[in-house]
Amino acid sequence: MEPGRKEGPKRMIPVTKPFMPPRGEFEKQIDGIWDRRMLTNNGPLVQQLEQQLRRRLGLNHLLYVSNGTIALQIAIRVLDLHGEIITTPFSYVATTSSIVWQGCRPVFVDIDPDSLNIDPARIEAAITPQTSAILATHCFGNPCDTDAIAAIAARHNLRVIYDAAHAFGTRWQGRSIFGHGDLSITSFHATKLFQTVEGGAIIARTPDQEQRIRYMRNFGHKGYEEFDGLGINGKNSELHAAMGLCNIKYVDEVLASRKRQAALYDERLQHPGIRRQQIRPGAEYNHAYYPVILPDEPACLAVKAALEAEEIWPRRYFYPALCTLDYTAAPGNAPADLPTAVDIASRILCLPVYHDLEPEVQHKVAEIVTKTLENSPNQARA
Ligand SMILES: *Cc1c(COP(=O)(O)O)cnc(C)c1O
Repeated sequence: MEPGRKEGPKRMIPVTKPFMPPRGEFEKQIDGIWDRRMLTNNGPLVQQLEQQLRRRLGLNHLLYVSNGTIALQIAIRVLDLHGEIITTPFSYVATTSSIVWQGCRPVFVDIDPDSLNIDPARIEAAITPQTSAILATHCFGNPCDTDAIAAIAARHNLRVIYDAAHAFGTRWQGRSIFGHGDLSITSFHATKLFQTVEGGAIIARTPDQEQRIRYMRNFGHKGYEEFDGLGINGKNSELHAAMGLCNIKYVDEVLASRKRQAALYDERLQHPGIRRQQIRPGAEYNHAYYPVILPDEPACLAVKAALEAEEIWPRRYFYPALCTLDYTAAPGNAPADLPTAVDIASRILCLPVYHDLEPEVQHKVAEIVTKTLENSPNQARA
């Protein structure tokens, strides 16, 4: 508890709080950094964190980078993508902005209203001779239909990148979700389930691809005086890796508390006006977020305002839909052509979940949400 913050029903409840390790454990790692005076450039803690992540996830070619956005940019670059990239309009803005930043054009395909992921049945109609790849998000950690997407990619010779920024801990088809696609990326940002303050990873498939990404994340350096192609600074630091090494020991506890919290919300949030994302059957889901789909936008705004009046701050993840950004405007990307994403974005709300969220707060959240819906005029539709 920070000094000056009062314990009590009115203290501020954010949508999430980072998991923090016991401070003494972090200080021990910091002592080592002070002794070695090596702060970055693939130091020992970065290497240890990569090893531990690889072992935990059962992935041989994971590389730790400075954030999830640079991971996306490097992924697009290493696969040499150009022209059009088919993607989802319902994700965090970085999924789309990275495509544009790399000089490619996002082509949106609407989402499935149940999974909230890109709808594979609509992908083929969007493929043109300019299409080079599919970039799909495992939205809120829910696995995409990876088999259907892989089959489409094979038929049309497209690459597949998964934005798995929400998906740490999700397992699909018996292995880490990060093992799917030509490449996957993830984020370890402070708001994510496993955090290293800032940070992310690229998960390659082959030793050759891993090597090229290694050069790319370090300016192309192949030694002090030799370069292997174009690179950028995608390295992460020893201080960030230290946070990761402390937190990785607790990630099973974090996954367990998320699961308990989701079960409690499921039980308490009983109202016909609330619809939930359908998790793909067979997935081992991480419960990283708790989104609720409300009857319409006025109901969503009413619930948000009622919670905020009690100092509870849910978030409209993800609003607005990415097809409303001015830099994505193009024929086919019009919001009117992506009705499901636009509709869901207008009425979905993520409720607070974080490791030490108390059941009493969840009870209160559930009560405010259901009471507000009972008093809202449009409660039939869900
Ligand atoms: C958080 C997030 C990112 C960006 O990750 P950073 O580490 O913050 O750069 C990308 N995509 C999605 C879906 C995200 O939620």
